[in-house]
Amino acid sequence: MEPIANNRKNLLEVRNLQKQYGSNGKTNVIFEDLNLTIYENEFVAILGHSGSGKSTLLRMIAGLEHIDGGHLSIEGKDITGPGKERMMIFQNYALLPWLSVYDNIKLAVDEVMSEASEKEKKAHIKEHIAMVHLEDATHKKPSELSGGMKQRVGIARALAVQPLLLLMDEPLGALDPFTRAKLQDQILELYYERHQTIMLVTHDVEEALLMADRIIVLKVDEVASIGKVIDVPFEHPRDRKKLRESPQFNELRNETLSLMESYFEQMQTNNKKMEVSQFI
Ligand code: ADP
Ligand code: MG
Repeated sequence: MEPIANNRKNLLEVRNLQKQYGSNGKTNVIFEDLNLTIYENEFVAILGHSGSGKSTLLRMIAGLEHIDGGHLSIEGKDITGPGKERMMIFQNYALLPWLSVYDNIKLAVDEVMSEASEKEKKAHIKEHIAMVHLEDATHKKPSELSGGMKQRVGIARALAVQPLLLLMDEPLGALDPFTRAKLQDQILELYYERHQTIMLVTHDVEEALLMADRIIVLKVDEVASIGKVIDVPFEHPRDRKKLRESPQFNELRNETLSLMESYFEQMQTNNKKMEVSQFI
């Protein structure tokens, strides 16, 4: 049987992607030849340990970082910079501290709905505030909000722009486990309601398995590459309690953890070899 993803429309294409950073005449090659397709309406997690290139990949897709070779396209159009069809949610929220929740979202809405009337924009902003259940905080400033609430503003702001692809770089990393679980469920609800295509970067195996349809596991040898692609076999909507009790979930979690451990050890061995080679 063909994997379901093969019957879907390609949304994002990453082809022969190269990326390097350079300083003081030394170059650090991150990606040499990365290939990846994201399909419409799927929820993909990019899983990898720290330094495996997750943020770099997401920033290039967002158009916030230039590429050194290959190409990136969305709906067949080359990505050459930021665009409203790709919105990014950052771990540190990136809200403007002097603006209220409403005005932080309005800033993004004004940018993309320049043709709409003030009344239409107001309705659109309110709809998105309600979507993340922040009605009571509409006129509050970021400093008056908890971390979870700030991240909900970030999500509302990104979705108000109605992107084709939502990019999330460890959006829940700074939150306590309970707030984190609650927000995971809210993001899944948005995914069901809007059929939003999502790329979520995380180093948390359980988070990836609870949320994603497909997990791309990055590994680093000399450079970063895709070590494994996991098709997550659990039906949506997902019940975290039931999943945690299921043997299949536990087996997949343990397998994935072992895989990441082996990638981590491999990276450390390579780093040691590189350090030694500097002296001989
Ligand atoms: P991750 O998000 O998986 O932790 P990153 O994409 O942040 O990984 O980093 C991948 C590699 O690229 C690391 O070795 C990091 O040191 C390097 N790197 C990331 N950003 C920069 C930068 N702006 N300048 C130089 N090197 C960078
Ligand atoms: Mg990162």
